[in-house]
Amino acid sequence: MSSPGPTNHAAHAAPSRRTLLAGAGGVAVGALGGIGGYAVWRGHARNLQDAPPRSEDDPRALSAQVIFRRAGGKKLIALTFDDGPDPRWTPTVRDTLNRHGARATFFQMGNALQTPEGLALASALAGDGHELAIHADTHENLATLSYAEVTRQVEVTARASQEASGKIPRLWRPPYGALSATVAKVAADRGLQLILWSHHITGADPEWMRERLLASANGGEIVLLHDGRGDPNRELMDSLGKLVGKLQRDGWEMLTVSELLARTPAANKPANR
Ligand SMILES: [Zn+2]
Repeated sequence: MSSPGPTNHAAHAAPSRRTLLAGAGGVAVGALGGIGGYAVWRGHARNLQDAPPRSEDDPRALSAQVIFRRAGGKKLIALTFDDGPDPRWTPTVRDTLNRHGARATFFQMGNALQTPEGLALASALAGDGHELAIHADTHENLATLSYAEVTRQVEVTARASQEASGKIPRLWRPPYGALSATVAKVAADRGLQLILWSHHITGADPEWMRERLLASANGGEIVLLHDGRGDPNRELMDSLGKLVGKLQRDGWEMLTVSELLARTPAANKPANR
């Protein structure tokens, strides 16, 4: 993923594509760390085709950043939950976190936030001090969609999130961690940071994944879990309870991604790795 996007298919593009990119200041995507989160770069025919040009002094559109984790050395960890709010699992996750004084970040679905139940769940999370962030409106691979459709997905979700929390979300994790030049451009234009992950704990084998995280965590980890759609199950919820309890007993601070970013340096060579 070292040379993403536009140049791969530039040969097939209209000559004006390069002009548009130059006018937009380019899209610089830098991966900090890069251990566990995967990113899929797709050269797609519709990439950036409908992105509006920006003047060179427009402070937006300069760059977008992709973050997998932060530098180690401190007992700070960011637990993140995708695909909610979901009445089946979000209340359990919320209870577990709150019982242990843990804060987390929820990358939420626009279509789930737009139900009264979803809005109430999200508001409750925000009221507890958790962070609300953007996933997508529908759970599609955004790397295959046009600039206009990716923008729509982000805007719908951001608006619903703001309604729930009163805050404009600043973090975005596209479904599947799928990135494209278009996704990066939308992030740049909207001032969003792209947050992927360094550990993933799924419902398929949560105990093993929990042990692996506890054995290797150096601080600054961003852990992906799910509180909605197909992944969560009872086993995952049980593992989450054990994980949060163990982290708390061992003196870890579980905090939101924005808090983690504010309290740790960005570094391409994390300490202790
Ligand atoms: Zn998802």
